[in-house]
Amino acid sequence: MDQERRDFVKGAGAAVATAMAAQVTPAAAQPKPSYEIYAAKYAGPFMSKLAFLLWNQGWDQDIERYYYIWVVKGPTETILVDTGVGVTMAADRKLTGYVNPVDVAARIGVKPTDVTKVIISHMHWDHVGGMEMFPKAYPKATFYVQKREYDFWTKHPVAKRKIFAGTADPLAYKVLQDLEGTPRLVIADGDLTIGNGLEIMLGPGHTIGTQSLAVSTAKGTAVVASDCAHLARNIKEDTPSILITDLIGWMQTYDKVRAKASSVDLCFPGHDAGMLLNYPKVAEDITRLA
Ligand SMILES: [Zn+2]
Repeated sequence: MDQERRDFVKGAGAAVATAMAAQVTPAAAQPKPSYEIYAAKYAGPFMSKLAFLLWNQGWDQDIERYYYIWVVKGPTETILVDTGVGVTMAADRKLTGYVNPVDVAARIGVKPTDVTKVIISHMHWDHVGGMEMFPKAYPKATFYVQKREYDFWTKHPVAKRKIFAGTADPLAYKVLQDLEGTPRLVIADGDLTIGNGLEIMLGPGHTIGTQSLAVSTAKGTAVVASDCAHLARNIKEDTPSILITDLIGWMQTYDKVRAKASSVDLCFPGHDAGMLLNYPKVAEDITRLA
């Protein structure tokens, strides 16, 4: 190799090394943006026995529950956790207090092109059903679901059995399957960092592949747990609901969620009335959690 060629190779190598160094700066070294978290109630109230949502405690006590999606607003993007119920199923079931979740989110200024990511916590009808509207409503959004959740609901024969089929939403599954293989659907196999200060975390228990979203906020790391817990009491008292697919997995999910969050008060559950009633209201049926 002549000198000129050697210098070129050396120079190119140095340039590559510099570029690599720039790209592999550890995420921890970058300041994390502060996201704001809002709970947006789109249906309810519904009445349950407490024991339904808090493992066999209080069969004689009634408790209100609500249905929510969560809006996570950052400096450059808006992320939604869950999609709510689809308009068709809401009409079929005559769902109490239902408003299209897209219209609820618009109350705090969420515009169609603002939403970059939508986390589907799990594929029960009240969390995935809004797929009927969401891909069109939010044309720039990428959707995130866990592989084992997706595979179960779309492929496993047991998912067709009555006990599972009652919480399924085939219309929403069809929309998801139409996105499979495109950049708009990420089928994650476990935990995944999806942005600076944003991590989806596999949390089996309620379903086989439920996931939550860890979010960096001004108060520390929060976890939008969705149905990793139905009530705040589930996480605080280490006691799940009775809506269980994997009980051992669920107990370990509580360990994981509590370890990730800066405080147990920054773990936000799926259906707790407290999210609507005990936090500052910023618009109709919308509260700021963090
Ligand atoms: Zn739910």
